[in-house]
Parts: sequence; structure tokens; C-alpha cells
Amino acid sequence: MSVTRVLVANRGEIAVRIIRACQSLGIETVAAVSEADRESLAAKMVNRVVCIGPPRSSDSYLKTAALLAAAQGTGCDSLHPGYGFLSERAELAQACADNNITFVGPTADNITKMGDKLAARKIAASSGVATVPGSDHAKNAREAIAQAEKIGYPVLLKASAGGGGRGIKLVGNAQEMQTTFSTAAAEARAAFGNDTLYMERYIGNARHVEVQVLGDRFGNVIHLGERDCSLQRRHQKIVEEAPAYAVSLEVRAQICNSAAILARSIGYQNAGTVEFIFDNDTNEFFFLEMNTRIQVEHPVTEMITGVDLVAQQLRIARGEPLAFKQSDIRFTGHAIECRINAESPQHGFRPCPGRITHWEAPSGPGVRLDTHCYPGYCVPPFYDSLLAKLIVHGADRSEAIARTKRALATFQVQGIDTGIPFLQTVVDDADYLAGNVNTRWLEKKLEQYSASHG
Ligand code: ADP
Ligand code: ADP
Ligand code: MG
Repeated sequence: MSVTRVLVANRGEIAVRIIRACQSLGIETVAAVSEADRESLAAKMVNRVVCIGPPRSSDSYLKTAALLAAAQGTGCDSLHPGYGFLSERAELAQACADNNITFVGPTADNITKMGDKLAARKIAASSGVATVPGSDHAKNAREAIAQAEKIGYPVLLKASAGGGGRGIKLVGNAQEMQTTFSTAAAEARAAFGNDTLYMERYIGNARHVEVQVLGDRFGNVIHLGERDCSLQRRHQKIVEEAPAYAVSLEVRAQICNSAAILARSIGYQNAGTVEFIFDNDTNEFFFLEMNTRIQVEHPVTEMITGVDLVAQQLRIARGEPLAFKQSDIRFTGHAIECRINAESPQHGFRPCPGRITHWEAPSGPGVRLDTHCYPGYCVPPFYDSLLAKLIVHGADRSEAIARTKRALATFQVQGIDTGIPFLQTVVDDADYLAGNVNTRWLEKKLEQYSASHG
């Protein structure tokens, strides 16, 4: 369980974030990079760089054997998977365990239990945590139609192995199910290597509320409050906040307790997130899934709790008990994160890789920027388009919004297009300011934006 030299098995801003946490704990770092990432900021920050393969992630960041060989070849005693890529694959956690490398994350068993959404729904139900009314595995269109009649249309047809907003289809009636089912199964097989599908009732007026949890090797599990991630495009989060200001304190406490109960029921270790959907019309909340890794939006929780979550991951991995009890966690103020992607708002938000000729980052009170970009950096076309996360803290939500507006206005990027101009219209919107949003709101805002800037 020693963690003295970590292989950073990821790229982009999260690789930088992991390296910073290691450095502040006096831990050595080795960056595993693809051929396209030799000039990355992560590569410049570490003690040593190992190339793990060609640019395509299927030839590099998704290769368990290459990562293990890189760790062993450079004398690493531990590996941090970051998010995305192999972070939620039990095989990697198991391969590390089998080779005496400390996996900075949950156990392979934790990942197996929660990695499959249908299996996770069953565990939640048996721990007394409500799940969205829905179905079991639907094996064909006929079965799906029969089950959907009971749930009531519209339903979401979900891939049990899906993630990252992919593998979710809205189905309005039996006729649509007849045509959608086989496409969804084929897509799931191609994308996730597993075509298991199930359904959930579609909650039309919803908020996404999720809870950060931490568990150690001694069975201690605490939560660090919740986040509202309702502003989404294609089921992917764009703006996240903590706390989930629009939900009553009483319901938030229930949601957080449910998350801790669930994590405790599987002996969860390390950092994880339990996701819920909150029905604005009925005030009910339901378990959606658990993400068994550090999440993109973890910094908003760090800003309101003062806890360095990645440092905690490293401490837990090296066998330390949790440094605090539930009652030690205090929440201060409000935090907002904007994901800044390389994309063209003027051209339907298509990805926009290329060289950054000018990069002037915002700063000032309450402003934090997590990024791997620098002036002259060339954004490769092979990966996720996330360039930076602007995280802003304020004494309350209105101060956090005011600071976000100011920071976005001073953020100067040239050479490539970014989502900054669109984000500025979001944080200036009367509905957003009033908190009058749901998970469909951002898509409407995007349509309006594209119509007026097309
Ligand atoms: P978060 O809640 O942390 O924002 P996301 O679901 O947006 O998590 O995923 C984080 C990153 O991981 C994104 O880059 C996403 O594309 C990727 N990702 C998550 N799950 C999967 C998966 N099953 N397959 C491929 N990529 C995934
Ligand atoms: P992923 O693994 O891709 O993150 P999730 O199951 O967490 O998939 O769902 C992603 C998003 O899709 C949610 O944040 C929410 O906006 C929407 N969603 C998921 N399930 C439902 C549902 N039953 N009703 C309405 N929206 C949903
Ligand atoms: Mg999710």
C-alpha cells in the first residue's frame, strides 16, 4: 500500500491536477503519455515521462498492459487513473492489485458492483435507496414494449454499461421503441462491448443532484455534500455548482445520507460520487448511478469544504484512515464550475482543436483555473475537448455568479474557438440567476444561441 511514486495514467487537466496533489504531498510522479501528448503540461511537470503508444486512446490510454508496463518499468508503486479512460474498469484495478501496484481508487470489487448500472440499481434498492421507476434487463423490443407500458411513456432506454452521457435514448411510444431498440443495442455493443439495455421513467422536469463521498480501508464513509449539475448538453455536464441551492436543506440532507448509506453498504473505498435525479414537480429524488472515480466537477466541493479531494485519494490509497469525521465537514459559501471546451459556438459547437496563440487566464479573489493549456500549446484532435475548468467561489451564489461573469469576461483565448462566449450568455440569463432551470434548460439556451449566431 505504499504510494511514493505515482504513474499518472491519464492526460489533460486531470493529469495536471493529480501531479499537483502528489507534489504537495512530496510524492514523485511519472506521466504516461501518448505520442500526441509529449509536449503536454503534465509531461513538463513530472519527474519522468514514459510514452505508452500512438495518439489514439485505444492504442495508449486504454491499454491496461501498456500502463502496467510503464508503471513497472519506472519503479512506480502506485497508479492514479483520473476520470474517463480506464478509471472505471475493474480489470485495471485488479491488474494493479495482482502486480503489487497501489490503485489510487476503489477496489475492483467496488467497481464491479457499481460499474454496471443495472447491478447498481439493484444494490441501491436493497439498501433502501429509491431508484427511478423502471425495468430490469429488456432482452428485445417486444419485452421492452411490454415493460414500457407498465412504466408509462416517455421512457429512457439506457445501456447498462453506458457512461459519459452516451448510451441513453428517449423513447416516446411503442412504435419508436420498435425502431430504437435494435439501434440502441448495436450502439451499446460497439461503444461499451455490452448490449444490455434497461428502461427508466423519463423525468421531464428534473435536476441532477450528486453527492461526493469518501471511504477509507477501515469501513469509514462520509459525504462532502452535494452538487447541482443540471446544466447539461447531450446528458453531459457544462456548469456545476455546490451546494445544490434549489433543493430544500431537508431533502439535501436526505440525499446525502442516502449516498453515504449506499457507499457504506458496499464497503466503498476512496473517492466516489452517487448521482441522483430530483423531480422538481414532486420533490422526490431517485438514485441514478455511482461514479467510482474522481469526477470532473470535484473542485466545486473542494471550494466549499476546503478539502483537497485528490490528496485525500492518495492518503486513503496509502492506507491512512479518513482525516475527519462527518461532523468535521463544514460548508462555506457557494462555488460554480464552468467547463471550457475547444469548440465553435458559431458552428453548432463542433470541436475545434489547434494551436493556442494567445492564452490569458483569469485570476483574482475566489478564482481557480484547472487547465493543461498554455500559450503556444497545440490542442490535439484525438481526445475530449475540455480545455479548462473555471471554478469560482463566493460568499453566496450571487457573489459566485458575479465573480464568474468577471472571470469569463477577462479570459482571452486566441487561435482556437472556445465555449466562453456561450457561457457568458448562460451566467447572464435571468432564468439562470433565479435558479429557474432543469436538465433540459441548457439545450434550449443553446438552440437560441445557435439561431442568433449561426
Ligand atoms: P463527470 O460526472 O465526472 O463529469 P462524465 O460522465 O462527464 O463525468 O465523464 C467524465 C469523462 O469521462 C468524460 O471525458 C467522458 O467522456 C468520459 N467517460 C465517462 N464514462 C465513460 C465511458 N463509459 N466510456 C467512455 N468515456 C467515458
Ligand atoms: P451517464 O452514465 O452517462 O452519466 P446517467 O444515468 O448518470 O448517465 O444520466 C446522465 C444524465 O441523463 C442525467 O444527469 C440526467 O440529466 C439525464 N437522465 C438520466 N436518467 C434520467 C431519467 N430517468 N429522467 C430524466 N433524465 C435522466
Ligand atoms: Mg452520470
